[in-house]
Amino acid sequence: MRGRGPYKSRRELAAMREPGRITALALEAVAAAVAPGVTTLELDAIAERTIREHGAVPNFQLEPGYEHTLCTNVNDVVVHGIPSATPLRPGDLVTIDCGATSGGFHGDAAITVLVPGGDPAVAEARARLSEVTHDALWAGIAALARAKQLGEVGTAIEEHIEANSDFGISEDYIGHGIGRAMHEEPPVFNYRTRVMGPAVKPGLCVAIEPIIHAKGIETTVDADGWTVRSADGADACQWEHSVAVHSGGIWVLTALDGGAERLAPLGVVPVPIPDR
Ligand code: MG
Ligand code: MG
Repeated sequence: MRGRGPYKSRRELAAMREPGRITALALEAVAAAVAPGVTTLELDAIAERTIREHGAVPNFQLEPGYEHTLCTNVNDVVVHGIPSATPLRPGDLVTIDCGATSGGFHGDAAITVLVPGGDPAVAEARARLSEVTHDALWAGIAALARAKQLGEVGTAIEEHIEANSDFGISEDYIGHGIGRAMHEEPPVFNYRTRVMGPAVKPGLCVAIEPIIHAKGIETTVDADGWTVRSADGADACQWEHSVAVHSGGIWVLTALDGGAERLAPLGVVPVPIPDR
């Protein structure tokens, strides 16, 4: 970080665009492939192919001991679900977390997809959990566009969840700075904290990633050492974007439109990052 704290130079901000864009393309390809009977290993292969076709590298594969491109978190799995040969079933709620590295910088994003079919009441509850989580993420991103301090993002996410649900916000997993490493300082909380964090100013790049539980926020880890589940067996899901703050405004690095469509109703217009 060369004495600039978490703030990236204009050149580094420009270099953040490509890994973000490729991460978005991989998730778009994966989302289109989700269907009953498809396995999460097949989704993993689609993501890896998309990332490599664009000259990037799946950065999850660079994590010690992890060999996949995605984490795939089905129903009660909260994070770090390992892609498997188990077919997705109608009504499954699957969070797909993905990242790519290109030109020395990283992108990181997650989406949640509901597999079509299944019990209508279950599907409706899962769709609502995903929608509230997704909206909370965008509320956090919109807050970043106006924030003086990073902690305002967590406040906005918590306020959205509290106003719209009785869901629980994970405290075990939070967002992070992103740049030359996938996980950098500063931490990005999904809830109100006493410490409001660093100033929001040009050069800040963060992955905002609320994980929301339908019920309790306690978790357990499977014997595989990776898979984290809700202790009460209830559903959980996550949405994530990597977002850059630059001199012209904010740009959602892992949204192909920079976040324009989702931010418009929130009164925020994202601004493309200049080339230099
Ligand atoms: Mg992620
Ligand atoms: Mg992340």
